[in-house]
Amino acid sequence: MGKYVVPPLPYSYDALEPHIDAKTMEIHYTKHHQAYADGLNAALQSINALTHKNYIIGILSDLTTIPENVRSSINFHGGGFENHRLFWESMKPNGGGEPGGRLADEIKIYFGSFKEFKEKFSTGTAAIQGSGWGWLVYNQTFSRIEFRTTENQTSPYTQRAIPLLGLDVWEHAYYLKYQNRRPDYIEAWWNVVNWTEVEERFLRVAT
Ligand code: MN
Repeated sequence: MGKYVVPPLPYSYDALEPHIDAKTMEIHYTKHHQAYADGLNAALQSINALTHKNYIIGILSDLTTIPENVRSSINFHGGGFENHRLFWESMKPNGGGEPGGRLADEIKIYFGSFKEFKEKFSTGTAAIQGSGWGWLVYNQTFSRIEFRTTENQTSPYTQRAIPLLGLDVWEHAYYLKYQNRRPDYIEAWWNVVNWTEVEERFLRVAT
């Protein structure tokens, strides 16, 4: 691996309007995501591991492969780098609706219905204290999907879970448009979820 580079945004800054405003998208992508990439590169450089043989997902999945003194920094910046990469891909203009196929079946099995899943995800994510993420993950140990939350930039990979869909509820993700109304941001975000991408991600890992 060489230096980590923020991948291109798959749509323009204003593409998710009115649900996510252009200014928030621009700052979030060009400043915040970039800062996680820079922090990750700096942490790896500090241990002469800019050419670490594993991609960041592999490192996060087993933080014991890196020296203890940089684990917390890699967890934060590496998690931030990967979480945001996944976040951009999980959204699209005119998204929303419901997933189909096998993922729809799994949601019914483990949450009762899509409506109940959405409620659990929204309520659980709105209730995060401080900064963090709400997730739909695939738990490889039990071969099932689950709702989870993580603090700050901690990645589900560090908990042996594969992220399928993630929602950033750091204030930088919504404050310009929604101020303290985190539940309103969450409700609006469902309109831009790219379920095609989430379904494909699920099919790649589900056994
Ligand atoms: Mn963010």
